[in-house]
Amino acid sequence: MIDMGSDLDTSVYRDRIVRARASMERAGVDVLLLSVGSDLPYLSGYEAMPLERLTMLVVPRDGEVTLVIPKLEAPRVTVRAGVFEVLPWNETDDPVAIVASLVARPRAVAVGDTMWARFLVELLGHWPSGGTRYLRGTAVMNELRMRKDASEVAALQAAGAAADRVATKLQQGDIALVGRTEAAVSGEISARLLAEGHDVVNFAIVATGENAASPHHHAGERVIARGDMVLCDFGGTMNGYCSDITRCVSIGEPPAEVAHAYAVLRAAQAAGVEAGVVGADCQDVDRAARRVITDGGYGEFFIHRTGHGIGMEAHEDPYMVEGNNSPIEVGHAFSVEPGIYVPGSWGMRLEDIVVATADGPLAINQVDHDLVVLG
Ligand code: ZN
Ligand code: ZN
Ligand code: ZN
Repeated sequence: MIDMGSDLDTSVYRDRIVRARASMERAGVDVLLLSVGSDLPYLSGYEAMPLERLTMLVVPRDGEVTLVIPKLEAPRVTVRAGVFEVLPWNETDDPVAIVASLVARPRAVAVGDTMWARFLVELLGHWPSGGTRYLRGTAVMNELRMRKDASEVAALQAAGAAADRVATKLQQGDIALVGRTEAAVSGEISARLLAEGHDVVNFAIVATGENAASPHHHAGERVIARGDMVLCDFGGTMNGYCSDITRCVSIGEPPAEVAHAYAVLRAAQAAGVEAGVVGADCQDVDRAARRVITDGGYGEFFIHRTGHGIGMEAHEDPYMVEGNNSPIEVGHAFSVEPGIYVPGSWGMRLEDIVVATADGPLAINQVDHDLVVLG
């Protein structure tokens, strides 16, 4: 378990509850229900174990906020005056009935995206959908979660710096590659992420040679050899916030075609970052990166969106994808990670996290963007 951000001041949570209520007001939501997932620790500082017993933060638009929690979990809760009251339930109680008894029947309820379906089904028994409108929790939480505050940006920077230290070791040749399997290198990257301060590793993709043409290749038994491109995409969670970086190294000088493609990729990634300014559309980041790759002749080999939001979750809103015309706002944190994937031959991706600020994009990752040649 990661204690997500519990070292933050109680006033931070009080302020977030106030903002959540303003968001409920705008969305016409009478009560917000949050269970397992990131929204709960974001608002309360408490992270629920992903267990079958119900934990639920009940946030009515007015009145008291209540954390309904199994009695045996209650000792883990840091009580925060003015944020929520704790209401423990006993093993023989019906916790969903307790939740339903806390508020008058709502006209509209927003339920957290990752609440177990079983609790939603039981809730429908208390508040049938005929008289109560059900909305996704994102209708309330997205605008809060997307705009990172100063403490969140600092946490992203700390996690990013830790990932950068591992990427630097990779570029310096301190992580042995030739003669090892992708899986072994993935294991070493994971161990280094933990050693650099991450609480958990979320993924450590190591894809070499033709395997790199599959963007989410699962590190396997392929043995890395001279002449290979090695794509490493890794990240984890540190103090509740995620890192995510991709760098490629070449074992020996790359063929001219690969070197040329990498130059296109690097220019595309820089164009994507540059387009990620406050007021631009999210899709503009994708368009800027894609234009460079298309003009470079590799358009058909760039087969995914350019980026995703990042914060308490490795992938969250906003997504940098064609069709997302919502504006980039101060505090939006997202990846810019174009790639070129030639099936059966090679693949490459370059990824950084940036935060949109009034002064332009703030780079969370500082590692060399060149295709570093080793050996
Ligand atoms: Zn990915
Ligand atoms: Zn990544
Ligand atoms: Zn990513």
